[in-house]
Amino acid sequence: MAETLTGIHHVTAIASDPQRNVDFYAGVLGLRLVKQTVNFDDPGTYHFYYGDELGRPGTILTFFPWPGARRGRQGTSQIGATAFSVPAGSLGFWQAHLSAAGVQVSGPQVRFDEEIIMFADPDGLPLEIVGDEGAASLPGWGGGPLPAEHAIRGVHSVTLWEADAALTGAILRDTLGFAPVAEAGNRTRYHTAGSGVGTRVDVLHLPDTGPAAGGAGTVHHVAWRAADDARQRAWRERVAAHGLRVTDVLDRQYFRSIYFREPGGVLFEIATDPPGFTLDEAPDSLGTSLKLPPWYEPQRATIERILPPIRVPAGKGAHG
Ligand code: ZN
Repeated sequence: MAETLTGIHHVTAIASDPQRNVDFYAGVLGLRLVKQTVNFDDPGTYHFYYGDELGRPGTILTFFPWPGARRGRQGTSQIGATAFSVPAGSLGFWQAHLSAAGVQVSGPQVRFDEEIIMFADPDGLPLEIVGDEGAASLPGWGGGPLPAEHAIRGVHSVTLWEADAALTGAILRDTLGFAPVAEAGNRTRYHTAGSGVGTRVDVLHLPDTGPAAGGAGTVHHVAWRAADDARQRAWRERVAAHGLRVTDVLDRQYFRSIYFREPGGVLFEIATDPPGFTLDEAPDSLGTSLKLPPWYEPQRATIERILPPIRVPAGKGAHG
């Protein structure tokens, strides 16, 4: 079996208004909405998946938008920030673009030799864009509202907020196989063995910050990649051997998942790379209609009555 997780599969967060979420991520940030489906545990709620043109593992950010959801609170036992990779030369474009869209941006500042800017989505979810030397060689989606050369290439990293960074460091290192590669102040960076996007995770040691509260504008969980079902089963045994309670394998239609809380309290998932988002839609039409797993198809009419209709922003030319 692989001894090291290869990187981030996806990050899932909570939003309030569905249309505002689509307008921000598919419009302002120029990600592709690769799937409109429902929360499999709460089918009266959307589940939106955004990513590159195919929603490849490592590029995926997903949302449960609950209209009217109360805002959560930043704190420990939570993913405090989600960062995206763009080519190092594109940071100036992003700063100007976000400001023009009315988004308040701070930075740039330097973190571990990379420049970053910081901002929040309309629900207050903390986001970062990192000028990543490795990003220019990765494909940028050309079908969106933004120029492909500046497009977000995927998730750069997540930052875990922890009351005791050593506990979380131990599972990252000893069980999941991440390597500590840099430290600055109360921030430690770990790398996975993979390449491309989503190969980094930062842990912030925050002993005096209170615990987080879930809600709109907070991350629900981060999922790590398993190349296939056999490796996922092996990871499941390994996590259980670390003394953590891990779920059975759940069918998420586009991947299979296991979940567990790391010792610091952040919800981790391990998701399989296959089968991916082209399972039930052609690459050209990804995200254009509501897709339901077979077990919810009989309830489609009811589900469609409950979900508010959404409009996906058009491609190039429609946005400045
Ligand atoms: Zn997930």
